[in-house]
Amino acid sequence: MIRDRNHIFRTWRASHSGARGKARLTRVRDEPAARPVPDRYLPGACPVLVRHVSGTRPVPVPWPPAIPVGAGEGGNLPPVPSLSDVIAALETLWPPHQAEEWDAVGLVCGDPDAEVTRVLFAVDPVQEVADEAVRIGADLLVTHHPLYLRGTTTVAATGFKGRVVHTLIKNDVALHVAHTNADRADPGVSDALAGAVGLRITGPLVPDATDPSGRRGLGRIGELDIPLTLAEFAARAARGLPRTAAGLRVAGDPEQLVRTVAVCGGSGDGLFGDVRAAGVDVYLTADLRHHPASEAQQQGLLSDGRPALVDAAHWATEWPWCEQAAGQLDEISDRHGWALRTYVSHQVTDPWTAHAPAPEALSSTSSTRSSRQSPEAILPTSASRPQSHPGAPR
Ligand SMILES: [Zn+2]
Repeated sequence: MIRDRNHIFRTWRASHSGARGKARLTRVRDEPAARPVPDRYLPGACPVLVRHVSGTRPVPVPWPPAIPVGAGEGGNLPPVPSLSDVIAALETLWPPHQAEEWDAVGLVCGDPDAEVTRVLFAVDPVQEVADEAVRIGADLLVTHHPLYLRGTTTVAATGFKGRVVHTLIKNDVALHVAHTNADRADPGVSDALAGAVGLRITGPLVPDATDPSGRRGLGRIGELDIPLTLAEFAARAARGLPRTAAGLRVAGDPEQLVRTVAVCGGSGDGLFGDVRAAGVDVYLTADLRHHPASEAQQQGLLSDGRPALVDAAHWATEWPWCEQAAGQLDEISDRHGWALRTYVSHQVTDPWTAHAPAPEALSSTSSTRSSRQSPEAILPTSASRPQSHPGAPR
């Protein structure tokens, strides 16, 4: 499912854009009402992310038409950017040199001279997403995860990655990856995650030593405007993130009050030392393994149970970045006056497709202390979670 990204920035554009920007706004339908906007960082604010944090989540609309030829101001045609133009723009947002050494970011396939009018953002470069890019007529697919993290000797369509490459090249769709460079960026993947659960960000969890502003780095630390119980915070996270079969897992006393939160989009159990050092009440991330989580929990018992843990699906913690990234490209596109539209894939590409909740009897008889409750005791299961979730894939 695809939805138009342009209306997220309508308010910002309306107050900052000229006649052309306003003209484009008239093509946007179903504008949701804006809610109060918390500043992204305590001092100052970033207009791009503030618009994201504002909660003006887009309402799904039918695929918008391509920008009409000749609709530019004064009858001039809006310029169509080349792939190299768009890649240059993306690299200003997520400089490739800021990626980890082991990572594989940048252009995977595509002709730099090709024209780009539609860009699809997604977390995973899997076959369903490649097919979706073809369906909507995208010229460029931007994903967070690399297709090839290590070298390969074949892109034959007999392999699933080769099939993706064939699908993209045969249909003139380029693929660009922004992975750990997007994690470290300002704003980055964890900014979008923090925004999705309503945090006021105070800084990175692991600051990038090369950034004098102290804004780049891995993970983010943030504050809730009002303290919530752990159960309430977990429910807020479940509402703010896209729905997945696995739902969220929680470790901690559901009645414990939380105000300070560390978040890390994607696999976050390598940052427990930093989370402890930050002294936060709760840590929201994904892919928490038994031993790191158990040790963090045992350590927490020595310090008022902090930090509690909320473990979401990897895909769900990184999906909000797609909306943020699409908005950032929209903003650049507007500045150049490009005939470019951005889309965000709503296909759930989390590999887990079902969740079997623990039987009530088992969870109650095995409970040995108050924090040992099944997630179902404090959260709705993914199956019973309301279907009207604004970020829910459809
Ligand atoms: Zn990831």
